[in-house]
Amino acid sequence: MLVIYYMFIHIYYLWPTMSEERSLNFIEEIVEEDIRNGKNDGRVLTRFPPEPNGYLHIGHAKSICLNFGLAKKYNGKTNLRFDDTNPVTEDTEYVESIKADVRWLGFDWANELYASDYFDTIYGFALKLIEAGLAYVDDSTAEEIAAQKGTPTEPGVPNQYRSRSVAENLQLFAEMKDGKYPDGAKVLRAKVDLESPNMLMRDPIMYRIKHAHHHRTGDTWCIYPMYDFAHGQSDSIEQITHSICTLEFVPHRAMYDWFIEKLDIFPSHQYEFARLNMTYTVMSKRKLLQLVNEKMVDDWDDPRMPTISGLRRRGYTPHSIRDFCERIGVAKRENMIDVSLLEFCIREDLNKTAWRRMAVLDPVKCVITNFPEGQEEIHFGENNPEVEGGDGGRDIPFSREIWIEREDFMEVAPKKFFRLGPGLMVRLKNAYIIKCEDFVKDADGNITEIHCSYIPESRSGSDTSGINVKGTIHWVSVAHAKTAEVRLYDRLFKVEDPSNEDGDFKEYLNPDSLKVINAYVEPDMVTLATGKAVQFIRKGYFCLDKYSTADKLVFNRTVTLKDGWVKK
Ligand code: ATP
Ligand code: MG
Repeated sequence: MLVIYYMFIHIYYLWPTMSEERSLNFIEEIVEEDIRNGKNDGRVLTRFPPEPNGYLHIGHAKSICLNFGLAKKYNGKTNLRFDDTNPVTEDTEYVESIKADVRWLGFDWANELYASDYFDTIYGFALKLIEAGLAYVDDSTAEEIAAQKGTPTEPGVPNQYRSRSVAENLQLFAEMKDGKYPDGAKVLRAKVDLESPNMLMRDPIMYRIKHAHHHRTGDTWCIYPMYDFAHGQSDSIEQITHSICTLEFVPHRAMYDWFIEKLDIFPSHQYEFARLNMTYTVMSKRKLLQLVNEKMVDDWDDPRMPTISGLRRRGYTPHSIRDFCERIGVAKRENMIDVSLLEFCIREDLNKTAWRRMAVLDPVKCVITNFPEGQEEIHFGENNPEVEGGDGGRDIPFSREIWIEREDFMEVAPKKFFRLGPGLMVRLKNAYIIKCEDFVKDADGNITEIHCSYIPESRSGSDTSGINVKGTIHWVSVAHAKTAEVRLYDRLFKVEDPSNEDGDFKEYLNPDSLKVINAYVEPDMVTLATGKAVQFIRKGYFCLDKYSTADKLVFNRTVTLKDGWVKK
């Protein structure tokens, strides 16, 4: 299985990202066919229908890119519709976060709509079906209904309520609406086919009683329509032409079509694609909510979460997420995408845009013994050598004492170690070549200080020393460096598919998914804007956390420079 992922990943990496260079996906083929046939007068109207019961995750981003992307490509429009028919779990906090996330991803909806706005219309639809003899009020308990439904190999059996008269059904349904009955006492069911091979067609529930406060309709209603009697109806009311959802709704399509046919309303159509699954994470709002509620993560926007808000705080860009969604394509079969593809996309993007800076994450002091005490020099460093002209640059102060990375020194250096060790030479990025003369150890054998001499003729940009060194290391001047807290993130889970393991998925959380360290960074980092990406050279891409302040800098590592998991 793993091998297949990696093969896929390699194909994806080579795959052109520009949409015009790839062939049509199967939904685009359907849309183009519909346009050719003049269906809906060539009109394309899609919708993104989140239930406001949690924050959006990267799987939703896939659906957003698909729905909004299709509309954009075919001169259509997309509605943002909140599928808010389950009052108990829904909240306006979620509505606001969803709107912010969709906008941040770069999309604009034609209309902001709510299934709850259609409660009156949908109630009217129910009356119409009752009057046509196609719906009945059932007093059975949930267990009785389940038992009477039969099994995939045995047909269901009708109960005594199925033959209620239209008049009785109308009266009972009105009483349900008026609050005469407690939760669970009665339901309204569609009279479809108790022998259908599709279990969902065996008289599905249309309405249930729920005495609960709704985030928009308040206490107006105590009966709420079920998904199957709300979703297709909402699509039809809005005259959605292509209602795109994930594969688990395939068995619901028969119900979707049945209601539309019997109600004789606008014929929206449902099309299904494979949901996005990604390795080393979970992608269900219910599970993500557990992680938040049980304080296993900071919040919905914890940078380790697969939520849009988590990815944003981590330093992902909208462009990188759209690129990722484009690269994975639109599949007809369930699959699992390796998270390293997402990481590849953000590296690609940030390589072109992030300014380069130096930060020492595991510092040891290095004294330049032949550089005068108290003296200071300014060196120049380009912001981004990937951009022609370097995208401007910044001044880098240099002085007698600098911080360097502990791992860049070895007391006994192997042959191909092109960094520092007794007698070895290395270039300090944007500054001089230095040579290690000596070092100091404490009683426990830890290196506490390294002594080097610098070669004044080797200054970057005007090097006349004639000396060639193989390695270049990063550094910051001790007197000028700012301290910063740096948060290094790793995968949230230890296993590829935590939802598919024995026991509770939370047992598979990676205990080392967050490491907090203190680092020294270049002085101008105090003016970096929150969310703006920076590459700490040789160390990865970082951005300031939302809680960072000028007095206490806090960086999140977005991603390392290379995929560190390939060799593991
Ligand atoms: P979850 O299972 O995470 O709670 P959901 O399907 O219940 O997700 P909704 O708010 O109902 O969440 O989803 C809104 C839209 O996003 C739906 O059309 C749904 O099919 C789509 N969607 C949800 N998860 C994914 C995913 N992993 N990949 C692609 N599309 C998704
Ligand atoms: Mg759902």
